Amino acid sequence: MGQLYSGILEINLSAVRHNWRTVSQLYSGQDCGAVVKANAYGLGYAPIVQALYSEGCRTFFVANYLEALEVQKLLEGKARIFVLQGCPRGLEKEFVRRKLIPVLISEAMLARWCAASESDAPCAIKVNTGMNRLGMSEAEFSLWIKDPLRWRMARPVLIMSHMACADTPEHPLNKLQLDRFVQLESLAKQYYPDARSSLANSAALFLGEQWHFDIARPGIALYGGREGIPEEIDLQPVATLSLPILQLRQLEAGEWVGYGGVFCAESPMTIAVASCGYADGLLRSLSNVAVGDFRGFSVPLLGRVSMDSCAFDLSAIPLEQMPVEGELIEMIGARSSLTLQAKRAGTISYELLTGLGERLQKRYIENN
Ligand SMILES: *Cc1c(COP(=O)(O)O)cnc(C)c1O
Repeated sequence: MGQLYSGILEINLSAVRHNWRTVSQLYSGQDCGAVVKANAYGLGYAPIVQALYSEGCRTFFVANYLEALEVQKLLEGKARIFVLQGCPRGLEKEFVRRKLIPVLISEAMLARWCAASESDAPCAIKVNTGMNRLGMSEAEFSLWIKDPLRWRMARPVLIMSHMACADTPEHPLNKLQLDRFVQLESLAKQYYPDARSSLANSAALFLGEQWHFDIARPGIALYGGREGIPEEIDLQPVATLSLPILQLRQLEAGEWVGYGGVFCAESPMTIAVASCGYADGLLRSLSNVAVGDFRGFSVPLLGRVSMDSCAFDLSAIPLEQMPVEGELIEMIGARSSLTLQAKRAGTISYELLTGLGERLQKRYIENN
């Protein structure tokens, strides 16, 4: 039987549990949650949510309502789900009925929520502290919270904000956002003593304990991305992407490889054409810069990534160890790390991971 899938994406669930445990142990707050938006960063809701739940995670964050429905099916009410983009107009009753907690991101959304929901339905409120993406302004928030007519109509269980530059520890915005959030948090807790606070994504947890607050929102650290995470932190790689070899080919000096002829052989060489291309999320910007691995030998990607295939230079492999058709080149994994490969492509692990496509076969494994 020929190759059924364009590539194999192996997902190590023990590593996900290990990473969550590692992060939650170094976290100094009360509740280490997990961000599972975008199909758990492309790795699959069901196995990831179950792995995190079994490790003790009881607070989950998704991006939107449809994602919340997916995750809720899995959790059956046994954990809290926060919806980061809040509640779309008209779905307020639905959120209340399903016990989804919207992160209210604007004054207008908060007003709609108060008007439509019962006053004791929990919500979260997001305040902008300098990223200028989502969230009420600090001024709107303090006016709102000090107005007794309004604040009696909502029950925020969480006050949160999001860090823009946490993966760059020396960036001045980190301290500025922290200072602003400290003010907002103490104001919020005057009016809602039971409300919790949350500021940190993965990288922000490593800026220092001041950034931790009550609830942590790690995402990428659980899935093996390392942007902004110190090397000494023991996180394990989660995803391994392996590409089946479709054909070996001998090149003479002066021959070109792939679209555009952007690689030209300087001397005779053996190359492997492997399945998997940009339609599978193997970014075209990996052309000529990625390096794969075959049994410990580095195999540079040659020429452009096509829609369904790409080529590798096998020069480093001794003759007697040359692969044959059907064997696998590791493109992302322990020896060709997700973050390094993303960096070579001029992007971040998040984009590479969430872009991995439907044609890949996902296999879930335990242990290394
Ligand atoms: C995606 C997201 C996170 C998780 O960020 P990581 O960098 O993946 O840890 C946390 N909070 C919010 C609001 C997010 O959108």
